[in-house]
Amino acid sequence: MSKKSTGLIHHPYRAPEGFASPVVPVAKASTVLFRDMAHLRQQQWVDKSGYTYGLHGTPTTFTLEARLASLEGAAHALLTPSGLSAIAVVDQAVLSSGDHLLIPDNAYAPNRALARHELARWGISHDVYDALDVASLRRALRPNTKLVWVEAPGSITMEFPDLPGLVKAVRDGAPQAVVALDNTWGAGLAFDAFELGQGLSVDLTIHALTKYPSGGGDVLMGSICVDDRSLHDQLAWTHSRLGVGVGANDVEVVLRSLPTMALRYAAQDEAARSLASWCAGQPGVRRVLHPALRGSPGHEHWASLCRAAAGIFSIEVEPRFSAARVDAFVESLTLFGIGWSWGGALSLAVPYDTKGLRSLRHDYEGVIVRLSIGLEDVEDLRADLAQGLARLVEG
Ligand SMILES: *Cc1c(COP(=O)(O)O)cnc(C)c1O
Repeated sequence: MSKKSTGLIHHPYRAPEGFASPVVPVAKASTVLFRDMAHLRQQQWVDKSGYTYGLHGTPTTFTLEARLASLEGAAHALLTPSGLSAIAVVDQAVLSSGDHLLIPDNAYAPNRALARHELARWGISHDVYDALDVASLRRALRPNTKLVWVEAPGSITMEFPDLPGLVKAVRDGAPQAVVALDNTWGAGLAFDAFELGQGLSVDLTIHALTKYPSGGGDVLMGSICVDDRSLHDQLAWTHSRLGVGVGANDVEVVLRSLPTMALRYAAQDEAARSLASWCAGQPGVRRVLHPALRGSPGHEHWASLCRAAAGIFSIEVEPRFSAARVDAFVESLTLFGIGWSWGGALSLAVPYDTKGLRSLRHDYEGVIVRLSIGLEDVEDLRADLAQGLARLVEG
């Protein structure tokens, strides 16, 4: 090598074969090298039989995709830079101008905002349906309905729908439509989205890996899991054309967190249920919204489908308390951070005004405080909530 710069690149060292470790190496690549021109022309990435370009997959991303697919009980998975971008890839892969989609009234709000502000500009229309009323979905189906989003439970108000009933309504009334589940809450652990009973299954799921799979409140990532090969290929091509790849270091973090997810999920479930039951008896609390609690909207559907619940629930504060007073309650909590997201080690609290929160269902009054239960000691969290609620009630 005549020049040092060339020598740094065309160096003679070759790593020996045979290094084995249970941990997946972090493969970072934009360029992937081909052995020869025949390989450059023939290598395929859609079926994961080969590598062509970093954006289209590396051993690191393919490994995470395979693990997520097996966790979900699906054949294939794709990674996206956030949970919301997974929703956007699904919308863009499935829908064309003139199509119609349906979104539950209690969906993760940015899903609706995407339909209202982006898809509408491309001639794609949408309606919302009441997730607790299968007939409301049936009525909303149209001949051009190509995509139906379902979510279990709903965001913030936590209503758990009759998921098999909703899927069946779409199969009967709009067999042309794809059923997509936002399964962030279930995380592949609470129930099996691809085996809902009675031979029913969703067509695909999306996850915000940002929540439990990351578990650290640090990484943003999303996934799409799908069983059907041709639907997978359709999604994979749209995904590649949009250029929404993920960074290898972020994938590494999720791969590291995934083996402890079931343990964290179970611990956060147990703590959240214990705190939710306790909150239900406290002065100042009108209602506790947690699908595993008897009396919570859709509890019977949760009970018939699920073996677990995520560590998140909401308190509906008595409407006599002003929004400012509820803000002061949230600010008085010392162990709960004020912030978005959930599924991390730190407990979080966010108040939501129920006015204008829903278009179709008006059972809620006053302010709802959503609590994400982290991994702190449950008695410490209970004591913190107790002092906060005492202040709320006493003023
Ligand atoms: C957080 C979340 C998303 C979006 O995930 P990001 O990674 O924050 O984009 C989507 N759906 C649900 C239910 C979520 O909780």
